[in-house]
Amino acid sequence: MTAPGDAAAPFDTVTIVGLGLIGGSIGLAIQRSLPGVSVQGFDADPEVRETARRRGLAHRVPDTVEEAVADTDLVILCVPVRAMGAAAADMADALPSHCIISDVGSCKASVAEAIGAALPAHTIIPAHPVAGTEHSGPEAGFASLFDNRWCILTPPDGADEEAVARLSALWSAMGATVERMDAEHHDLVLAVTSHVPHLIAYTIVGTASDLEEVTRGEVIKYSAGGFRDFTRIAASDPTMWRDVFLSNKQAVLEILQRLSEDLSAMQRAIRWGDGDALFERFSQTRAIRRSIIEEGQDDARPDFGRGDHLSGRPGNDEDEGDTPTR
Ligand code: NAP
Repeated sequence: MTAPGDAAAPFDTVTIVGLGLIGGSIGLAIQRSLPGVSVQGFDADPEVRETARRRGLAHRVPDTVEEAVADTDLVILCVPVRAMGAAAADMADALPSHCIISDVGSCKASVAEAIGAALPAHTIIPAHPVAGTEHSGPEAGFASLFDNRWCILTPPDGADEEAVARLSALWSAMGATVERMDAEHHDLVLAVTSHVPHLIAYTIVGTASDLEEVTRGEVIKYSAGGFRDFTRIAASDPTMWRDVFLSNKQAVLEILQRLSEDLSAMQRAIRWGDGDALFERFSQTRAIRRSIIEEGQDDARPDFGRGDHLSGRPGNDEDEGDTPTR
């Protein structure tokens, strides 16, 4: 992470479109680490713009997207995945020709296609910061969200390498560690590590609330038995996650197929009393947890260090929605 003021700014002016959790956090992170960069912000919702002004998420939050992008060097689209194409089209006539376009969408192949169709003449370098919380909206952002988190860039083949380097420098200055990946591979990796886990959380919490033999009071009372962690993930923004599943359909369905085969194997082991199979699988998964902690992507303390987050330590975790409460 760059200390305030000590990095050469890769852009003079950056415009953030969509001032919710991620857009707001980008605005605050740039102002923290690159005070020389002018940050412009726009959101389609007038109430969000008002909150953004009050919280200082950007230096300027004009009432039209045309004004927000007029003299900018970089636009970062921070709207829900299925709104990316429309948001890009809205600014098409006002964009300076030298301006680079990026985004933060949780799926990369479909978003790159939608933005490319709306802005065929511009340089587009998609990105995905693998950082988030289950909160959304303009009150949710904070400057340290990206500290020590990954940001995956998915430039297309033959991309402008100077543009990639400048965007990469911006994310590094905001505290992230930058990786580069092919968009399709990104979508498969994130289907395993983020999208399907969210679907499982939404499903198990829904199943528990539908069970007639178990009361809602009991579900809440005994939630510390593992269920509680699912409820945190299942509290994530419904618009964002609906868009993610519809936009990363192929990879999610592929991983779900594998998952249901593995679940059937677990079911069979339980039915036939195959303790060895269960023990072997649970030992493997324990090792994965250890590696995640060793790589600094989670906290080994009891309660995942949540007490610290509540007492003011900046809260952020590995991926969207999968985070300690703040
Ligand atoms: P958010 O808090 O809901 O913010 C999105 C904002 O964009 C909202 O204020 C929304 O306004 C506004 N918006 C929607 N359509 C617009 C348009 N056409 N023009 C301008 N503004 C528009 O969502 P978020 O969590 O920041 O997520 C934003 C993006 O980041 C998504 O693509 C998501 O996949 C990605 N992402 C999220 C996370 C995470 O953990 N949340 C992590 C990494 C990446 P309305 O609410 O009025 O529609």
